[in-house]
Amino acid sequence: MTNSVGNEWAAALITEIKDPKNYIISSENAVVIYDKYPKARHHYLVLPKAVIPDVFHLNLGHLSLLEEMHFLAQNVIEVKSFQLDDFKIGFHAQPSMQRLHLHVISKDFVSDCLKKKRHWVNFNTEIFLQYQDACIKRFTKEKIEELTASTLQCNQCEFGAKKLPDLKRHLLEHWAQRQSDKFLF
Ligand code: AMP
Ligand code: ZN
Repeated sequence: MTNSVGNEWAAALITEIKDPKNYIISSENAVVIYDKYPKARHHYLVLPKAVIPDVFHLNLGHLSLLEEMHFLAQNVIEVKSFQLDDFKIGFHAQPSMQRLHLHVISKDFVSDCLKKKRHWVNFNTEIFLQYQDACIKRFTKEKIEELTASTLQCNQCEFGAKKLPDLKRHLLEHWAQRQSDKFLF
C-alpha cells in the first residue's frame, strides 16, 4: 500500500513534464528531460505526452510510439555531441516512477546517485529492457530479487563485486582510464 508521500514522489515525472522549460528536445508525441538523480555522467529520460503510466500498460499497438521515443533517445545523444556507443537506451522492467519513461544513460555509471545494488541491476541485467521488448517482457518480483542478490558484474570487463562500493571504485578506474586515453590520442 502506498501513502500520499509515496504517491507524490512517484508522480514527480508527471509534474516535471508539465513545464516545457524542462524539455531538452521534444517531438510530436514525446519529450526528453534530464534525470534529476543521474546514475551516470549523462542520464536523460524520454517520456510520452500521452498518459501511459508504465510498461505494464503497453501493448503492441504502442510500437510506433516506442519507435518515436527511441528515435528521440538517439537524437538527444546526437544533440549533446556524444557517441551512441557510449550509451544504453532502455526501460526498467520494474519501474518506480509513474509516466512511462525510457532511460538514456552513459555506460560509465560514475555517479554519487548510484547508491543501491538495485540501481546497478536495473541498468545492467536482463531487466533493462530494449524498447521493442517493453510491451511483452514481464519479470516476477522473485526474479528481480534474485538478480539483485547476485554478483555485480562489471559492464566493461570480467570483474565481479559482491558489494556496490567495490564496483563503484572499479568503475571509477575505468572512467579515469578512458579520460587519460582521450587526452593521449
Ligand atoms: P525508474 O526506476 O525507471 O522508475 O526510474 C525513475 C527515474 O526518475 C530515476 O532514474 C530517478 O532518478 C528519476 N527521477 C526521480 N525524480 C525525478 C524528477 N523530479 N525529475 C527527473 N527525474 C527524476
Ligand atoms: Zn571492469
